[in-house]
Amino acid sequence: MSLNASKSREQIAAELSELRNEYDSLKQAGLKLDLSRGKPCTEQLDLANEMFSNLDDYDFRDSGGFDTRNYGELSGIPDMKKLYAEILGVKPENVIIGGNSSLNLMFDTFVRAFMQGMVHSEKPWSQCGKVKFIAPVPGYDRHFAVAEHFGIELIPVPLTDDGPDMDLVESLVAEDASVKGMLCIPVYSNPEGVVFSAETVRRLASMKCAAPDFTIIWDNAYGVHHLYEDYRPDLPNILEECVKYGNDSRVLMFASTSKITIAGGGVSCIAANTENINEILHTLSVATISYDKVNQLRHARYLKSAENVDKIMMRHAAIIRPKFEATLDAFRNNLSDIEGVHWTNPKGGYFISLYVVPGTAKRVHELCKNAGVTLTPAGAPFPKGYDPQDSNLRIAPTYAEMDELHLACRLLCLCIRIAAYEKILAK
Ligand code: PLP
Repeated sequence: MSLNASKSREQIAAELSELRNEYDSLKQAGLKLDLSRGKPCTEQLDLANEMFSNLDDYDFRDSGGFDTRNYGELSGIPDMKKLYAEILGVKPENVIIGGNSSLNLMFDTFVRAFMQGMVHSEKPWSQCGKVKFIAPVPGYDRHFAVAEHFGIELIPVPLTDDGPDMDLVESLVAEDASVKGMLCIPVYSNPEGVVFSAETVRRLASMKCAAPDFTIIWDNAYGVHHLYEDYRPDLPNILEECVKYGNDSRVLMFASTSKITIAGGGVSCIAANTENINEILHTLSVATISYDKVNQLRHARYLKSAENVDKIMMRHAAIIRPKFEATLDAFRNNLSDIEGVHWTNPKGGYFISLYVVPGTAKRVHELCKNAGVTLTPAGAPFPKGYDPQDSNLRIAPTYAEMDELHLACRLLCLCIRIAAYEKILAK
């Protein structure tokens, strides 16, 4: 069934009735499928199983001879600092290894900013009146939730194929000192899969900001999550670029092994210039005596080096690439004829960003939900959950088994078509 302009209302109504019959029979099947969150599947989690036996020799000393079972090494064990320094292209002394969640480190960053201020703040952000942040959209709903929790006003800026619209970003930050920062996912962004261009990185590092304490949250959550053997993004190092332009303290980098080893049970990190690192460690020394270094050691022994992490990520890719491709095939085969419907073709990360007929994303979500397929709520990738076009849906294909995924995509495509036909008939 194709949807083209030459069809009469009667034809469309007849086809919609057939589509609804198909929908009802799929609904009867009692599906219970989840495409909502970017979670690794069991097969991926199994890849890291050897982590659970690599301490069987009861040698808990890290490469510096420190017994990781004891208090100490607040900034992390040297082995993990070295590994993340390699991955992020910084010096080990500019890395702090955290606990199980990078989102938690980002949250703590806002706590610090509001309680104490950042290194170049004149006063804590809680005393600054309105605080605004730039939010490239579509973006990560949990970033928005953290910022909104602190009462920050998010200014949506569209993402282009090269990253955020930099003309707009530059004009916003130059004029308004209440714009104190920006959320960035530079590699395989959630959900667009966008990789920032070299030019974008340079402009972010060099732009003139009215706020002296303007802070970039550089969330490199998907920096090593490539789907293809032959493609590795090649971005300039944002920290080096910031130093080059005299904005050394502007950027805080974050990452974790949540989607390399254990989701929510891995190791996170923060990297920044020395001034920021000292300030973070100062606060951290009050907040905790040390993080879980036994887990850090388990991770260091398993992950070994940046080169080995790349090999591990190719094992992940072998499991999830077919799921991305099956989803994209389903979209190509079933949605190409519907005007206004399009989607991203990511080279890494965890998501496909799907654009349905404007004004129908909520309806598609509802139709899918009523038939047993859970999608991320329509609007979630936008501040306050509001997508002005009501068009974007974030699709997470990694968690489902392949046969479930085929079924979920069949239902999803059917719901997109039903919603599109309904919209035409409602005119
Ligand atoms: N940052 C981004 C962009 C994410 O997509 C996610 C998880 O989906 C996280 C951070 C969460 O990371 P963590 O498990 O380290 O808190």
